[in-house]
Amino acid sequence: MKVLYIAGVGRSGSTLLERMLGALPGAVNAGELNAIFSRVVPQDQRCGCEQPISRCRFWTAVGEEAFGGWGAVSARMAELQPRVVRQRHVPRLATGVAPAAYLRDLDEYLDAHDRLYRAIAAVSGAEVVVDASKSTAQLFALRRVPDLDLRILHLVRDPRGVAHSWGKQGIRKPQSRTGDAMGTYSPPRLAALWTALELECSVLAASSPRTAHVRYEDLVDRPRATLRQALGEVGLPADEGDLVHVGRRSVVLGRSHGVAGSRTRFVAGHIALRPDDAWRSAMPTGARRVVTALTLPQLIGHGYVGRRHVAGRAA
Ligand SMILES: [Zn+2]
Repeated sequence: MKVLYIAGVGRSGSTLLERMLGALPGAVNAGELNAIFSRVVPQDQRCGCEQPISRCRFWTAVGEEAFGGWGAVSARMAELQPRVVRQRHVPRLATGVAPAAYLRDLDEYLDAHDRLYRAIAAVSGAEVVVDASKSTAQLFALRRVPDLDLRILHLVRDPRGVAHSWGKQGIRKPQSRTGDAMGTYSPPRLAALWTALELECSVLAASSPRTAHVRYEDLVDRPRATLRQALGEVGLPADEGDLVHVGRRSVVLGRSHGVAGSRTRFVAGHIALRPDDAWRSAMPTGARRVVTALTLPQLIGHGYVGRRHVAGRAA
């Protein structure tokens, strides 16, 4: 069993990437597994199959296989998670230098995730479990699980597009059954967070041999070539026949049992791929300048400024 973990910042197209990967032969996309104990199970959120998680046969079987049911483990993990995998604990998670009580809690948390992955593989029959959690803290933690074969896709999107998306007010969480709104960040705050998370992704990539970088803009512009290259780089090569669901600028996706994520979770069938670049015309100049200034080294590093941009647009 292998885990293909999508790392990066939210609103970068990870739900789409996760579902494209989950449609590969031998793979299953599970969604954002770092939300399963904290939100998905306790709030009985909707699964990608449209059913509330408590009525989804797949997740009921996974819960039984991993823990003998979700009841007790979910509450315990929801209590442990904010204590052990916070962003501020990344130095501890990276080095393993931490108080003994913390490491005991971490081991318990990681044991549950190890069981979860193995149960997802067993119930689905897949060899590759795609986890779109994105969280770098979660990924630093997962690297401590013995014998977990972890492959990393570092997904990046132009931070000005990410900031524009996080600035929108009043967007409802698509899987929530109570209609609560998605969080927001101001452009400077998002830019600072994005920069910190990108730095952590770079550290993870540099120290993990099976890592690939995927730009959102390339994924929607040249999906087939982008996926093939990334899969090759993480040691999971795909041939043309494995990518029959991916067209030149479109993808055909069935429903999945992925949890959490964006609105695209619930779109099925033939999906046209278009870059979401509304920020280019809709983002206020001041906000755009702030984000550009704060993220400039990485903007250059990822090729968003300073050389020809995707699809011929200059940044
Ligand atoms: Zn389901």
